Amino acid sequence: MAGTELFGDEERKEVADVMETGIFIRYNQDDARNGHWKAKTFEKEFSDYHNIKYTHMCASGTAADAISLAACGVGAGDEVVVSPFSFIAPVEAVLAAGAIPVFADIDETLCLSPEGIEAAITPKTKAVLLVHVFGAMARTQEIADLCETKGVTLIEDAAPALGASQNGKLAGTFGKVGCYSFDFYKIITAGEGGAMITNDESAYNTAHMFADHGHDHIGDNRGMEEHPILGFNYRVSELHAAVGLAQFRKLDTIIAALRKNKTILKDGLKSIPELTFRRIDDEANESATFLSFFLKDKATAEHVKAALDDAGIGSAYWVTNKYHYVHNWEHLKEMKVAAKMPVSMLENAPDYRNISLPISEGIMERLLMVEIKVLWRDEEATALRDKLVTTISNALK
Ligand SMILES: *Cc1c(COP(=O)(O)O)cnc(C)c1O
Repeated sequence: MAGTELFGDEERKEVADVMETGIFIRYNQDDARNGHWKAKTFEKEFSDYHNIKYTHMCASGTAADAISLAACGVGAGDEVVVSPFSFIAPVEAVLAAGAIPVFADIDETLCLSPEGIEAAITPKTKAVLLVHVFGAMARTQEIADLCETKGVTLIEDAAPALGASQNGKLAGTFGKVGCYSFDFYKIITAGEGGAMITNDESAYNTAHMFADHGHDHIGDNRGMEEHPILGFNYRVSELHAAVGLAQFRKLDTIIAALRKNKTILKDGLKSIPELTFRRIDDEANESATFLSFFLKDKATAEHVKAALDDAGIGSAYWVTNKYHYVHNWEHLKEMKVAAKMPVSMLENAPDYRNISLPISEGIMERLLMVEIKVLWRDEEATALRDKLVTTISNALK
């Protein structure tokens, strides 16, 4: 649950600033806001942290995906390579853009692999939407190099790996744009919120305009602003930005606690020779929201999952979970839509009932995860470690 665990006076204070003035909109109202610019301040601090030129804060992570696609010129009929193992939001954003999600294989990083991406690229591929899932990153530099060679835009959805890095480079800074979510369950939360970052001035300008009905955000008179493009409303409110700002200032504390607690569990599980672990490049610098490990086959994973359930230890087996894995997205497979979507109008409309990704399936069916908590005291973490080791060892006998 990460940041949600640490809600406190800092968040209350930032929100109180906004409540005092009643200026809930992030733009304009310069005189009435008493110097409080929560979204703008968040953007400045987020850019500084990532050593990047521009951040645009917005209403949600899904909005950040949508804005990022627009900022990269991804639209009707373009193919976008996506991951079968991730929250569904990036796929929904691609569909909403009128573009075509093309699923590719993951590897033991649990993220899209360079090999999977390369096999999925066609002359119609415009972008790769790479999600860094569950607290750690993909083989990101290799994927960035591949995209460059192929002339395909790399968009990183780094929501689940905020603050993770590889060789000193933070998640979200390898591609043309990076996006993040601050919903209630993320590493930091704004209640609801998201952001996109980029070094590309033109992509940034498209992003903030697209996210606010095309407003150019020049001057202090909203009614007199120009509208260089059509857009939509993906604005974040100052109330949410205020919570996000206080939470962002706790990010390093949150991640340090997660890393410490994950290490305690993992060091225990290393004593079980039948277990192998998720591939994590630069493991000292992951976000560490989950401990992910593999059993030797599906039957063993199911057996261990049942033993963990019996012992009252929370764990996730994504093959049967309704969330996060393409396998269980009946609404996508059957294209159950509120109204006809652009993708269904295409002659070569993909049939998502027939997605075949045997490499990904072979990884997913052996995978179990345990969530790491920020607030565990050392004795809680070691008690859970001991219980995990005993339960799994007994199950494997
Ligand atoms: C949570 C999440 C989103 C969606 O974020 P919301 O703020 O809930 O809209 C998008 N992408 C990924 C990878 C996520 O984990």
